[in-house]
Amino acid sequence: MKGTKLLVVSLFSTVFLSFTPVNKKYIVIDPGHGGNDLGVNLNGQSEKEITLTIAKEIKTIINSQDRYEVVLTRDSDTNSQLKERTDLINKLTPEMVISLHVNGSPQKESTQQGQEIYFQNSDPSRILAERISQKFTSSKVIGERNLHILRESKSPTVLVELGFINNSKDRAYMTSREGQREIAQKFVEVINESK
Ligand SMILES: [Zn+2]
Repeated sequence: MKGTKLLVVSLFSTVFLSFTPVNKKYIVIDPGHGGNDLGVNLNGQSEKEITLTIAKEIKTIINSQDRYEVVLTRDSDTNSQLKERTDLINKLTPEMVISLHVNGSPQKESTQQGQEIYFQNSDPSRILAERISQKFTSSKVIGERNLHILRESKSPTVLVELGFINNSKDRAYMTSREGQREIAQKFVEVINESK
């Protein structure tokens, strides 16, 4: 009898807890490009795939924790329009938005290397850019830029160019499983270290 009661109680709490709404705050990760918009691409490697893989990795890790709920502006190989992306952001009013992109330059082998980070004309956005920059050894905070997502998002937003597709070292880093995991982990740290 006692055993039955205990079972009922524990079943009840399991069901109850699983339906308790979790009070998580939103974070939006925006994997650039998608669908027939490949972004920059070289040797069968494309920006749209790199950004989506890393975004999904960030989402998996963060959503397994209690604090934040990561929402992606696209979670498959579709080309979500820029306005749809910022409409979603402004509906969710997330704590932060990180838009992921990959750089390219006209040369065959880029002499430029590393991450470039753009921010909005606001302190929270600039501070976020600086915090991301500190995680990468060869990164540069470039500054404000008049880009759709930075202009239209009402939440603190940064746009991160993860590296140059036409720099061999960057490309190897961004397209290897190990590199992608490491990049995702850096963003996870930035998110978890936010106040
Ligand atoms: Zn891009």
